[in-house]
Amino acid sequence: MQTEHVDAVVIGGGIFGCYAALYLAGKGARVALVEKEAQLFQKASLVNQARLHGGYHYPRSVATAALSDEHKERFTAEHKQFVNFSFEKYYAIDRFGSFTDPQQFERFCQHLNIPCERIREHPLFNFHRMEALYKTTEYSFDPVLLREHYRTRVEQNPHIAILKNTQIQRATPDGANWLLETQHTQLKTQNSKLKTPIVINATYAATNAVNRLFGLRDIDLTHEISEIAFITSAQFQDKGLTVMDGPFGSIMPYGLSGLLSLSSVAYTHHKISYDNLPRFDCQEPENDPRCRPEAPGICTECPRRPDSNAYKMLQQMRQYFADSVRFEHLFSYFTIKSKLKTSYIDDGRPTEIALLSERPKLYCLFAGKVNSIYEIEKIV
Ligand SMILES: Cc1cc2nc3c(=O)[nH]c(=O)nc-3n(C[C@H](O)[C@H](O)[C@H](O)COP(=O)(O)OP(=O)(O)OC[C@H]3O[C@@H](n4cnc5c(N)ncnc54)[C@H](O)[C@@H]3O)c2cc1C
Repeated sequence: MQTEHVDAVVIGGGIFGCYAALYLAGKGARVALVEKEAQLFQKASLVNQARLHGGYHYPRSVATAALSDEHKERFTAEHKQFVNFSFEKYYAIDRFGSFTDPQQFERFCQHLNIPCERIREHPLFNFHRMEALYKTTEYSFDPVLLREHYRTRVEQNPHIAILKNTQIQRATPDGANWLLETQHTQLKTQNSKLKTPIVINATYAATNAVNRLFGLRDIDLTHEISEIAFITSAQFQDKGLTVMDGPFGSIMPYGLSGLLSLSSVAYTHHKISYDNLPRFDCQEPENDPRCRPEAPGICTECPRRPDSNAYKMLQQMRQYFADSVRFEHLFSYFTIKSKLKTSYIDDGRPTEIALLSERPKLYCLFAGKVNSIYEIEKIV
């Protein structure tokens, strides 16, 4: 088997891996993009709430809020055909047990210079449950359209070779290069050998599994099996509501799909793993090769995924609406959500890129928010 020399190998074909591959290819590099599944973009980059973060969501993490705001304009400008700009977005502060209060939230918005207008009356909401309601400016990206856009761009780029259904089986440093042996995910046959001076690990939930394969350190993570429910409402169309800041929830348009996504801090996350690898009891019974802590799979397709909590989420969120507002649950997607352990302090979601090996180079890219894809440009 021939060893192929490439300028960089990107592991993980979600939005961060695709963007990193395109960015490097744009600089003239020959890139191999290695994806474990049969298709790109099937995990967190598809199954998320599609909030184009403007900062509002993080009143306890000014750093995350500022980072969201920093990249929002560029992301929006470069992806405008995939962004829903035309809905009304409200943020509410729960009357009981919020970690923030109206004064703090207004000061925070002022500090970040993001618009928030206090609303005292509205026929669709129940003000008995809300301490305050604000009209804000926030958009929603369309993960399905983004997926098509990035799949097409990487597939058509002559500088990028995409290796799907492929995992790195062995990684050995050899002077300034990594020697990589790859394996077919299902068949376990050897696919190819790659030689490269730069590896970017953009595998999100599998970050530490891949770091370990290269003999490098973990970054401290927790993982949650998370559900995004998709709902509709005749009364609450083209609108979104997020209730802050604590175990509350959010309903907002899922991009341009016409559906609303529903999530709740209390019920979206079904199982939690404090292990640095995503280790869940649903992986155990058959030691299924499609999903192991070292190689997490696609939860939506999995027969052992948890039962939906959509009903509980709806019950919780209903309290913030007038009786006339009705919602209908259509279906749910599931995936693993990974977070830095430090995010427990301030609920922050920074995107962190660490150079874990200097020679040969390995960058570990752990993604916080979708619109921070540009962070890669600061580092690599
Ligand atoms: C429930 C939920 C809600 C969220 N809501 C929002 C939101 O509203 N707004 C926002 O901006 N962000 C949100 N996020 C965060 C955002 O979705 C993620 O930060 C982002 O999608 C991560 O992108 P990624 O490319 O790093 O990861 P992924 O999209 O998960 O891609 C990683 C890829 O690596 C592949 N892979 C894994 N292991 C290997 C291996 N060994 N070899 C090869 N390939 C491998 C996977 O198959 C996958 O394709 C949310 C996340 C979740 C889970």
